[in-house]
Amino acid sequence: MSLPDGVERRDFEGDGDEADAQSLATRGDPVYGEPVVEGWRRWNPDRSKLGATLELGVDTGLAGGDSVLYLGAANGTTVSHVADFAGPTYAVEFAPRSTRDLLDVAEDRQNLFPLLKDARKPETYAHVVESGLDAIVQDVATRGQADVALANRQFLADDGRLVAAIKARSEDVTRDPEAVFADALDTLREGYEVLATERLEPFHDDHLAVVATPL
Ligand code: SAM
Repeated sequence: MSLPDGVERRDFEGDGDEADAQSLATRGDPVYGEPVVEGWRRWNPDRSKLGATLELGVDTGLAGGDSVLYLGAANGTTVSHVADFAGPTYAVEFAPRSTRDLLDVAEDRQNLFPLLKDARKPETYAHVVESGLDAIVQDVATRGQADVALANRQFLADDGRLVAAIKARSEDVTRDPEAVFADALDTLREGYEVLATERLEPFHDDHLAVVATPL
C-alpha cells in the first residue's frame, strides 16, 4: 500500500496501550487527545473514515502536498491529519458549533481554511476554493452523499481524486446497505469513474469507502 508522504506507520508501544502499536500517524499538534510520540500523532482509524480507509490498504491516490477540499469536516478530527500532510486544505462544515472547534484546529495549521458552508451549495464557496484541486475528501454522512460528490466535482483537476465515505444509514436506515451502496455508486458514475471501493468494517459499520476520478 502506498501512504501519502507525511503519513507513516509509527510505533506507539509504550504509551500504555498495546493496541496502539504501529499505527498510522501524521506530524502536527494533537487535536483529540491522541498519543504523540516524537512529534507524530496517532491517526485513530476508529475515529476517522479516511484513517480506516488508509489502514485497510486502499490506494486512495492521495499524496503529500495535495490541494484538498474536505467536505464534512465536523470539529476537525480527520481534517487535522489531512492538513498535516496536504497542501492547502479547504474544510467545509455547516454546523456552527463544530466549525468553532475547527477554527481552533486551524490556528495551529496555516494551510487549513475552515468554511462554514453547506456542501450541497458549492456556489457559495466557489469564490474562495481554487479549482483544479488534487483531491476531494468527503464524509458528510447525510442523505444524498453521491449528489454532494457530483456537485463538488467542478473543483477537481481532470486527474484529481474523490475519496468518499458513504454511510448507508444516512441514506435509508431500513434498506440493505449493499443496495444503498449500489444506488450511490450508480449516481456517482454520472460524473466519476469509480476506481476502488472497500467496506470500512471493523472500524465503521455499514460504511463504504469510494475512490473515484472525474469522467
Ligand atoms: N469527517 C469528520 C471526521 O472524521 O473528523 C466527521 C464527519 S461527521 C460523520 C459528518 C459531518 O458532516 C457533520 O459534522 C455534519 O454536520 C457535516 N455535514 C453533513 N451535511 C453537510 C453539508 N451538507 N454541508 C456541510 N457539512 C455537512
